[in-house]
Amino acid sequence: MSTPAANLKDTYRHKGLRKALLGKLREMGIADEGVLDAMDRVPRHHFMDDAFVHFAYDNKAFRIGAGQTISHPFTVARQTELLGLPAGAKVLEIGTGSGYQCAVLVAMGFKVHSIERQKDLYDRTTPFLKRLGYRAHCYYGDGYKGKKAFAPFDGILVTCGAPHIPEALLGQLAIGGKLIIPLDDASAGEGKQTMTEVCRVDEGTFTKQTHGTFAFVPMLAARSGLSG
Ligand code: SAH
Repeated sequence: MSTPAANLKDTYRHKGLRKALLGKLREMGIADEGVLDAMDRVPRHHFMDDAFVHFAYDNKAFRIGAGQTISHPFTVARQTELLGLPAGAKVLEIGTGSGYQCAVLVAMGFKVHSIERQKDLYDRTTPFLKRLGYRAHCYYGDGYKGKKAFAPFDGILVTCGAPHIPEALLGQLAIGGKLIIPLDDASAGEGKQTMTEVCRVDEGTFTKQTHGTFAFVPMLAARSGLSG
């Protein structure tokens, strides 16, 4: 299994590569300067196995162990941008994984709660985020259930491909809150998802918009016995 980077240096070379990546993200249509600035401040190479650090600033997804991946920088940027939330907002992430997206959310100034369903990733990433100084509340749990004790959330970000919209997550959105979720879409192709934005307009009214096709690892089936 891969491990997070052991060498936590952030050199001029890394910083330069990161600037170049930000330029690429701008070209690809990321316009929110707050998001670009947050991504400039989070060294993505720290979240990857040392064997891959030379590719950390390519716009690519990488394996992080346990059959999972660290999302493409463009995907992280787009999902964060779609949240459209100000600093101080309370955000729930489903799928902590490597912790990279979580760190970007913390760098945005959000109060971050993040759930991971795989114990080995949870055990590895929780202390790692802490060690790097990113303050987030991490849980080993089932993302289908959300985190009722800390609801409502201004934003919920799902970072794995979901077969449907989990009912519990809708109920945990604040009025005016947004759920950003990649939904399996057979018409987009095998293993592809349509990025979907669901807004809670009032208690019982939700609006839905879509934002193109992405590829995520699957949201693992709900597991009984894991708390929400
Ligand atoms: N945000 C992560 C992306 C990791 S890939 C990052 O930046 O690295 C998606 C993650 O979702 C994986 O770690 C996977 O284990 C997790 N996951 C899959 N199904 C889940 C579920 N039902 N609840 C919580 N996490 C889940």
